[in-house]
Amino acid sequence: MTGNSPTEDSPAGNGTDDSQDLLEVDGIVKSFGGLVAVDGVSFGVEEASITGLIGPNGAGKSTLFNCIGGVYQPDDGEIRLDGEPIQGRSPTEISRRGLGRTFQTPETFRGMTVRENMAFAAKNQTGERALGALLRPGTVREEEAAVQERVDETLDFLELDHLADDYASGLSGGQRKLLELGRVLMLDPEIILLDEPVAGVNPSLTDDLLARLRELNDRGRTILFIEHDMDVVMENCDRVVVMHNGQTLASGPPEIVQEDERVVEAYLGGYD
Ligand code: ADP
Ligand code: MG
Repeated sequence: MTGNSPTEDSPAGNGTDDSQDLLEVDGIVKSFGGLVAVDGVSFGVEEASITGLIGPNGAGKSTLFNCIGGVYQPDDGEIRLDGEPIQGRSPTEISRRGLGRTFQTPETFRGMTVRENMAFAAKNQTGERALGALLRPGTVREEEAAVQERVDETLDFLELDHLADDYASGLSGGQRKLLELGRVLMLDPEIILLDEPVAGVNPSLTDDLLARLRELNDRGRTILFIEHDMDVVMENCDRVVVMHNGQTLASGPPEIVQEDERVVEAYLGGYD
C-alpha cells in the first residue's frame, strides 16, 4: 500500500494535496449472484505514475475496472478521483471527470474509418473537458477543424497516420488496441485505465504501445493498466498492485512485490 489516504490536516477534495493519490480504491466489493468477484479491494494510484494491476485469470481485475469506470455499480466501498467519490456515476460522467479507459476487447466501430472513429469519440463529448478547452464558442466549421487537428496529432503520435482512411475492420488486433487508445486520448484524460493493452498484440506493436504509454506518462498522464505478463509489468511500472481471488494481495514497487512469497505462490499457482 502507498498509505496515501488523506489525513485530517490535509482534507480530501482540493486536488492539490500531494499526499493524496489521484485515484483511490477503497474497500470495493462486487458480486454476481453468489460469486464475489471483487472482495474488498483497496489501493491508491499515485498521480503521474504508471501502475500495473496484475493477478491470475479470474482474479477480478476487469470487474474492478468496470466498477471504476462506472460500468458496474459496486456493492460496497468508495472510489475517489481527485478526492471526489465517483462510484455509482455513469461512464460518461466519469470520463468527463478525466478518467479514460479501454476494454479487454477493443471497442471500435469496424464500419468507420480510423479517422471517423477518432472524431466520433471526440464529438460524443463536445463541449466537455478536452474539447471544452480546445474549442471556444465558434462555428461548427471551426469545431470540426479543431477536432480534425486533434485527430491528426493523435494519429501521428500513435503512428497510425498511414491508416487514417482505412476501415477499422481491416486493422490487426494490435492496431485496434492503438486506435482504442487514440479514441481515449481524444478526451484528454488525466488518468488512463487500460485492460490488457498488449495481450495478443505482436511483439513489435507491443513495444510501440508500451513506448507510447511511457511517453504519455512522461507528459504527466497517470496510467493504470492490467497485464498478466510479469516482465512487462516489472519493466514498465513504478508501482504494482496484485489481485488474487478478488482481493489485494500486495502492492508497492515492482522489485519488492516480485519477491513477496504470497505473490509468487498465488500468481504462479494461477497458471499451473
Ligand atoms: P480478471 O479480469 O481478473 O480475469 P474478471 O473480473 O473478468 O477477472 O472475473 C472475476 C470473476 O467474476 C470470474 O470468476 C468471472 O467468471 C466472474 N465474472 C466476471 N464478470 C461477470 C459477469 N458479468 N457475470 C457473472 N460473473 C462474472
Ligand atoms: Mg480481465
